[in-house]
Amino acid sequence: MAKIVCVLYDDPVNGYPKSYARDDIPKITKYPDGQTTPTPQAIDFVPGHLLGSVSGELGLRKYLESNGHTLVVTSDKDGANSRLDQELPDAEIVISQPFWPAYMTAERIAKAPKLKMIVTAGIGSDHTDLQAAMDRGITVAEVTYCNSNSVAEHVVMQMLSLVRNYIPSYNWVIKGGWNIADCVERSYDIEGMHVGTVAAGRIGLRVLRLLKPFDVHLHYMDRYKLPDAVEKELNLTHHTSLESLTKACDVVTLNCPLHPETEHMINDKTLKNFKRGAYLVNTARGKLCDRDAIVRALESGQLAGYAGDVWFPQPAPQDHPWRKMPHHGMTPHISGTSLSAQARYAAGTREILECYFDKKPIRNEYLIVQGGKLAGVGAHSYSAGNATSGSEEAAKFKR
Ligand code: NDP
Repeated sequence: MAKIVCVLYDDPVNGYPKSYARDDIPKITKYPDGQTTPTPQAIDFVPGHLLGSVSGELGLRKYLESNGHTLVVTSDKDGANSRLDQELPDAEIVISQPFWPAYMTAERIAKAPKLKMIVTAGIGSDHTDLQAAMDRGITVAEVTYCNSNSVAEHVVMQMLSLVRNYIPSYNWVIKGGWNIADCVERSYDIEGMHVGTVAAGRIGLRVLRLLKPFDVHLHYMDRYKLPDAVEKELNLTHHTSLESLTKACDVVTLNCPLHPETEHMINDKTLKNFKRGAYLVNTARGKLCDRDAIVRALESGQLAGYAGDVWFPQPAPQDHPWRKMPHHGMTPHISGTSLSAQARYAAGTREILECYFDKKPIRNEYLIVQGGKLAGVGAHSYSAGNATSGSEEAAKFKR
């Protein structure tokens, strides 16, 4: 029987919810490319309830315990002697969400001799040292597509909020003001602007589709061209380099995975190629950007605004400069963990566990590493190596 360690974010400060703002969530059975939403044999949770926090347990306890397994759920993941570290020596499976990642470094993997599988309840497995997982023959799986559309909605919301100067204007209301000139001195329409995505995968393409009705000019940069029909439908301009995309765009969004090839792709040098006063929205991964270069670009005016929900490390330490930099619209890492998204990735995690215990193949779409090499979606979107260095800084976050 297996021990499963599940690292989840804390419950709300006022306790686990007793009621919800809405009574249901829409039932979605297919993603835009035809892939089905998760198909576990059963679920033991109510879709629309909080599943991603410690008391929500991703709805897994009944299923795992009734099959004789042990489930440990904790939010204590960072620093010497964390609960996660204490549980690793006999853990067979570690589950965590990118929002509150269990950084599975080579050191941690070495402390877990029985570890067979690391599951990302969500998308993006960069918090695992993929090279170390490959070297040890550990399977890494994630719930591809579960929250891609959720993130795309957040991207569009943050683009509009930066361009239209929404957050400072909201703050004037809270302060009791009616300071129209203060609100609008940095407020523009997005109509007619050039908007581009770095990567046009599931999230990037969805962002392009959502933006089409705003009558903007749409651009993308990806290693592979989208089908001609899609380029035509959205009137897209394809760029083969970051430099070409950023020189053309007023608004840029990052939607590629973090792996050694993409780490710090936005830095002092590449920021020089942006149009002065461009907006940058990054809901992909904090480490795609050089942290201090972003601060410098906002302070100098090279960037007019920066938003997103991803930081490095997570949780971001209290003194992380992005908390206080000018003209930002950051949220904590929440775009992919709406209650709607949680229902999908909790079901997807259950599907992966059922496959593992029933010795059935895990969907190819969910595989990142298997049999000592990149596999499935991982072989397409990731490069081998490790992007977890520096993650120990997460221990600096004080609750
Ligand atoms: P996909 O795998 O569908 O898309 C990723 C795209 O990135 C692929 O099209 C891939 O292109 C492209 N890509 C990879 N490397 C590069 C590169 N060096 N330059 C340009 N493009 C590149 O994933 P999703 O769209 O679903 O998710 C993307 C990322 O968003 C995730 O990896 C994750 O980090 C982040 N994410 C964030 C969430 C949040 O809550 N904030 C939630 C979900 C995801 P190719 O076809 O060439 O391989």
